[in-house]
Amino acid sequence: MDLVFPGELLATSEECVGGKGVFEEDGRLFAAVEGKRSLDSRTRSVVISAPLQARPLAAGDYVYGLVHDLYDSVALMEFHAVSGEGERIAQHNNYAYLRISEIQRGYTEQFRDWLRIGDVVKARIKEITSLGIYLTIADSELGVIRGFCTQCKTELEQRGRVMVCPACGNKEQRKTAVSRA
Ligand SMILES: [Zn+2]
Repeated sequence: MDLVFPGELLATSEECVGGKGVFEEDGRLFAAVEGKRSLDSRTRSVVISAPLQARPLAAGDYVYGLVHDLYDSVALMEFHAVSGEGERIAQHNNYAYLRISEIQRGYTEQFRDWLRIGDVVKARIKEITSLGIYLTIADSELGVIRGFCTQCKTELEQRGRVMVCPACGNKEQRKTAVSRA
């Protein structure tokens, strides 16, 4: 990435013409904004496209999470936000919590029936509070996308709502992500 800063000399006006984000002074072309320099060889114009502004993580954003630890009523998750097309999400914290009430609709007695340490989930940001970031996997398209056999550690294969170990045949239950289709 060819990043330039405001006031940086780009070229002379004999070499090319100034496009977006460029100003001309005394026959010289300067960057007016911070951004990425690119040269359109067809029109011989130099333009600066501003870099993507990062926006803060927000409720509703999708994330991938790794189950780090399970407590009685909350799971500690390591997560990464999923940026959409043309956006960049600034993430200042890699850890979030998943309350047991956000596993699924209705009552969940214990995590281990639906989630295990080491599982990878697709989740959504439920809320961001001064105490931390909270996730949810309650919606049907959210939940475990990778799980590992508790008997032999092999990655499980998802068969509908059940996960099966291809190595030892062990069947395990998870709160799996089911595609909407
Ligand atoms: Zn197994």
